[in-house]
Amino acid sequence: MAIRTIHTFPDPVLRQKAKKVTRFDDELKQLAADMGETMYEAPGIGLAANQIGVLLQIVVVDVSMPGDRKKFISLINPVISEGEGSVTDDEGCLSVIDYTSSVKRFKKIKVSAQDLDGKPMEFIAEDRFARVIQHEVDHLHGKLFIDRISALKRSLYKKRLKKMLQAEQE
Ligand SMILES: [Zn+2]
Repeated sequence: MAIRTIHTFPDPVLRQKAKKVTRFDDELKQLAADMGETMYEAPGIGLAANQIGVLLQIVVVDVSMPGDRKKFISLINPVISEGEGSVTDDEGCLSVIDYTSSVKRFKKIKVSAQDLDGKPMEFIAEDRFARVIQHEVDHLHGKLFIDRISALKRSLYKKRLKKMLQAEQE
């Protein structure tokens, strides 16, 4: 296993659409294992392949309860087929440094995906789990949570980020 580098905004790879996974081989399992390790190292509770510069539809999501041993699931080619209710809560992203903002998401979603062997699965996710999956599936479409906040908030963040990046270079 290996820890991969997480790409951060405004890296253009985060704006690209990930392609469907068609080969369910050892390489895919290795990639998902690396993503899990990278996510926990960061630390985070979800990671999409775009974030490590791989344009494939793979997300990993932490499913452990607080205090439990860390456990994650890999969702291959995930699709949110239904959504209901809405909840606004704070969100952050390993690719959007030093920023959180409230984002509105479905409270409950229906997800179809495949596992690492290509076996189809379908399940209902709610609350925190539903939020993380919606956030990660957005990544696969080249979308970030800052696209879902007001234009004013977004431009303030971009200005602050620019200053931070300039300060780093000096
Ligand atoms: Zn993210």
